Amino acid sequence: MFRPASRSLIFAGALATLAACGTTYELPDSGGAYTDEAGRLFAEARASGPVTPLSAAAAEARYARVMPRVARAGREICQQLNTGVTCEVDIALDRQMEERNAYFTYQGNQPVIRISLPLVQDTGSDDEVAFVLAHEYGHLIGRHVEKQQSQVLAGALIGGALGALVGDSSDAVALGLGLGTAAGGIVYSQAYELESDTIGTRIASAAGYDPVQGARFFARAEAARGGAGGYSIWGTHPPDRKRVATVLATKAQIDAQQGLRPAP
Ligand SMILES: [Zn+2]
Repeated sequence: MFRPASRSLIFAGALATLAACGTTYELPDSGGAYTDEAGRLFAEARASGPVTPLSAAAAEARYARVMPRVARAGREICQQLNTGVTCEVDIALDRQMEERNAYFTYQGNQPVIRISLPLVQDTGSDDEVAFVLAHEYGHLIGRHVEKQQSQVLAGALIGGALGALVGDSSDAVALGLGLGTAAGGIVYSQAYELESDTIGTRIASAAGYDPVQGARFFARAEAARGGAGGYSIWGTHPPDRKRVATVLATKAQIDAQQGLRPAP
């Protein structure tokens, strides 16, 4: 009787961890009129055709103009929210990366945002660079790296526990581990992207940029893989009108002076 009981505990613990892995902040209601307006903006951005790429020098200048303002706004919002994360982010232009990409990660305990020169060359306005950087900052404030790691762990635990219930062979446990990891990685990613858009809209706006114009960058039809064969930012951020609707709904909240609310 002891062993089944201990397995139930593993299940309960893993399920509790998964339940705690929703968004940190409430996502705005992006339905209704926002869906219609998003559809229009999305179609407009897609129809506008490719942007004439900036020269490397012009892209460097655009980045140098925008980055300090977004960094300051991001730090201030991060500190006001008192999330417990390190709000000082190492933000830099990556001149080696060949793909049009940007990402947030940790190097040790240091939060890091990188944006590639080709991505900045492909932006149509300062607003677009501001939105991309602010969106990446949103991944820090939403604690998505830590949460994704605990989901993978919880998924592995559930999978492992399932395998243990099916049979005690190590093959069954290993199979369970694989399935659990895949499930943990897929389920939450869209909610996190929308949360980053919500936080990013607030940061870009506080930095003095237009987040709705900025979000046009993500609405363009682009290949998930770039010319060098690696993933571009559209590989991890597929164009999606729900994202544009979320930006519009967040903008309306800002205009109505509604702050971010913790998720229920
Ligand atoms: Zn993202």
